[in-house]
Amino acid sequence: MGSIEIFANESYFSLTMWSLVLLFLVAVYSSFNLNITKAVWYLFAGLTLEFLSAWYGYHIGYFNSAGVSINILVAIELSFSLISVVMLALAASEILIGKTPSAAYITGGIAMGLVAVIFYCFIYPDGDMIVRMRKIFPIAGFAFLTAAFWSKAFTPRHFGYLFAAIVTTITSFYLLMRLFDIESFVTGTWYLSSFTYVFLAISLLMMAAGYAQYKADKLEDKIEQYNRRLEEIIKSSPFPIVISRLTDDKILMANDNAVKLFGLMPNELERYRLRDFFADSDNRQLLTERLEKETEVHDFEILAKAINGETPFWLLTSANVIDYNYDIAIYSSFQDITTRKNRENMLKNQAIRDPLTSLYNRRYFEDEVKRRIAQAQAEHRQYSVLMIDADHFKRVNDTYGHKTGDKVLIELSSTAERSLRQDDIVARYGGEEFVVFLPDLSAEEAKGVADRLRETIAKIIVRSDQGDEVTFTVSIGISSSAISDNIDTLIKTSDDALYRAKENGRNRCEIFTVDDLKNFNAAVEHKDDSANHHPIFDKENAQEISLLDGIDANHIVEAQSQIEQPEAQKPQETYPILGVDNDELK
Ligand code: GH3
Ligand code: MG
Ligand code: MG
Repeated sequence: MGSIEIFANESYFSLTMWSLVLLFLVAVYSSFNLNITKAVWYLFAGLTLEFLSAWYGYHIGYFNSAGVSINILVAIELSFSLISVVMLALAASEILIGKTPSAAYITGGIAMGLVAVIFYCFIYPDGDMIVRMRKIFPIAGFAFLTAAFWSKAFTPRHFGYLFAAIVTTITSFYLLMRLFDIESFVTGTWYLSSFTYVFLAISLLMMAAGYAQYKADKLEDKIEQYNRRLEEIIKSSPFPIVISRLTDDKILMANDNAVKLFGLMPNELERYRLRDFFADSDNRQLLTERLEKETEVHDFEILAKAINGETPFWLLTSANVIDYNYDIAIYSSFQDITTRKNRENMLKNQAIRDPLTSLYNRRYFEDEVKRRIAQAQAEHRQYSVLMIDADHFKRVNDTYGHKTGDKVLIELSSTAERSLRQDDIVARYGGEEFVVFLPDLSAEEAKGVADRLRETIAKIIVRSDQGDEVTFTVSIGISSSAISDNIDTLIKTSDDALYRAKENGRNRCEIFTVDDLKNFNAAVEHKDDSANHHPIFDKENAQEISLLDGIDANHIVEAQSQIEQPEAQKPQETYPILGVDNDELK
């Protein structure tokens, strides 16, 4: 579209060529950064074809001198030019309606142009018409482009289109002036092609910038929309929900249910942090660690508290790491499970506690003590067991009634629990019998504890329903890790010591010593010897006291072997209480 001077002057030519190369490079860049890729390539193809047809037109003389008919040569040049117009029209269509016209339209357009070319080149050769067609074809192409760019020039963020519209308008204006042979435009317009290529390249860059801006705005809109929807969902949720920033734990959003649950000031949410709601900071730490690893955590139990609340409560929470307002945030939803948790605790307690005294029951005691013994053994630490029995308790019941008897048991239990250490385990073993596990104490030390406890109990005064002052005493039997590390044996031996305390006058403590093991086994052996008879070795009594189930003879033997004994006094081969051969047990 520049004048033929381009091809006559080497520097004009190379400048135009470089401008076209620039346009090519920008077209490549636009392919990745613009939504009108097809239009850009049609535009580039159209302008290149137009440039080629002009170059060919300039050199037509050479081909003619080589003997090719001038009519054919001109027809070829005009066909090139025609295809260039079609390309520019396709670019315009892509810009205007976002698609390429159907093949029928394109073919129709090309056919019409070809008819004109054939008519004026071969059927009715007309030099003037040919010259005019050479000028009209580019004008047609630019007319399409100009219209397309103007149509988009005034929509927001389309400053690139406005610039392109101005550029194509100026180019079209020049081309028109040339069509009408207005003197000053005929010559000296070699730069028109260069100008068009460079400024269209600039327009494309501007379009790409506008498009990037458009995409960013759209993303922002989307994020805003997403946040709004999220907020709506959160607000209408029947569960308390909180969104907090991951980095500093600040509350970004909380729904009404969460505001109520945690006692927040709705207008000053930013004052609070998620960790303020945790009654237990380790619990909080654990949740954070899990979220860092898994990005979502379900059914996590937390002991929570309200901002100004004292009593903690149980919540079940599900937490996810989410994007919220350009922040990484934690989305936490809660469910109050205090009632469920209380019920759970109650059931757990029911299974392990005695309903009258609230002390641990026998099963729990045995399980827990087994565990504690294993631990003590591993750490080479000693321990003792007390068996406590209320003295003449039957009389209390008979004299003051069963209800008063119950009161006595309750008082006795709470006194024992209060007097002992946190680590000691106190349990109700049976009717008016209690057992205590004392870690880290030898039998002698345990006796000190037992005596103090016995004296404290003796000072308790319970009022009967009739207003009488009821006092009572206990007897205590002591066994220890020096005797055995088996819970059953420990209980049997402490009970044996208890029996001795009863025999020796009650309201006293007795230790089961290593020496006692001899008698213990003798008693076991001489079951029928009524002089030496002990009720716990009596099958019928045993049923009631339940001390005989599962005795581990190995442990007795083990303890026994620690005593230096003459050969004759070695334990017998058979343990009558078990009714099994000793060998079978080994
Ligand atoms: P000892 O000094 O020899 O132990 O005499 P004791 O009367 O305490 O002995 P015994 O084992 O014969 O009696 C225990 C009584 O404890 C029998 C039973 O009625 C009573 N008892 C057991 N459990 C309960 C209870 O839960 N409440 C009440 N009030 N009495 C109970
Ligand atoms: Mg008793
Ligand atoms: Mg008893």
